[in-house]
Amino acid sequence: MNRRAILATLLVSLAAAGCGEQRADDGRPLVVTTTGLVGWLAGEIAGEHARVVSLMGPGVDPHLYKASEGDVRRFEDADLILYNGLHLEGKMSGILEKMGRRRRVVALGDSLPPELLRALPGGEQLHDPHIWFDVSLWARTVPIVQRALAAADPAHAEAYREAAGRVADELADLDIWVSERIASIPERQRVLITAHDAFSYFGDRYGMEVQGLQGMSTVAEAGLQDMDRLLALITTRGIGAIFVESSVPRRAIESVQAACASRGHTVAIGGELFSDAMGAADSPDGTYPGMVRHNVNTIVEALR
Ligand SMILES: [Zn+2]
Repeated sequence: MNRRAILATLLVSLAAAGCGEQRADDGRPLVVTTTGLVGWLAGEIAGEHARVVSLMGPGVDPHLYKASEGDVRRFEDADLILYNGLHLEGKMSGILEKMGRRRRVVALGDSLPPELLRALPGGEQLHDPHIWFDVSLWARTVPIVQRALAAADPAHAEAYREAAGRVADELADLDIWVSERIASIPERQRVLITAHDAFSYFGDRYGMEVQGLQGMSTVAEAGLQDMDRLLALITTRGIGAIFVESSVPRRAIESVQAACASRGHTVAIGGELFSDAMGAADSPDGTYPGMVRHNVNTIVEALR
């Protein structure tokens, strides 16, 4: 290597060390999201005009996730931070609040009209955070993301508006598809039993009775009462399949299966659903529409 080549290599590595891998400063705004679900939305609407980084990958439980030092650095580099809100990212509320004092931070769920949200027992201010399970409700967050991107990067406001229109159309079609698929399950069998209470918006929108072993957050462990309640439902209704969630350890739902067996009722594991995280990034399940289709097809195959 001649001296010039050595100097160039040195400069490149210094730049890389100083900026971190996310701040390859190409002039585009950096959008940092918590969940992959929010990241998908941001990526679709931003297109090539912004870089989108999601902190939580496949299989990561947002209720339990704590920000690492690297995550804090990414937040500090961000031009826009988008997160689900409604206390989904319960262990990140401190850092997100702190970031909100100095930069543009938007919580999608908290930006929706409260009358569209499911109120939780124990306080009028508490709402179910799993808003992406009702595709029509998730579609309501599209203009929120669009406006946040346009405010962070006014030069591409028109591109964000056009892309948001395309995403809204795609989600409207997806919503109809889900309704039709779920309606193909005989009404008596439309009971969805999963590891935690994530699917209530899904049940409300598409007409399924929904029960989770754990409560709304995975922070609290399931108790004996939860187990008894589920066993009674499964055995009296003759339910044939229950479901594992990709972001919750499968032993919880397997213990329900074992308890049913000890009472002489055979219940199958109907498959794995993506609840609070999407599938692998390079697979169809790594997109929001792909995740929804996977879940719906898995539910319909197991219960019909
Ligand atoms: Zn959840």
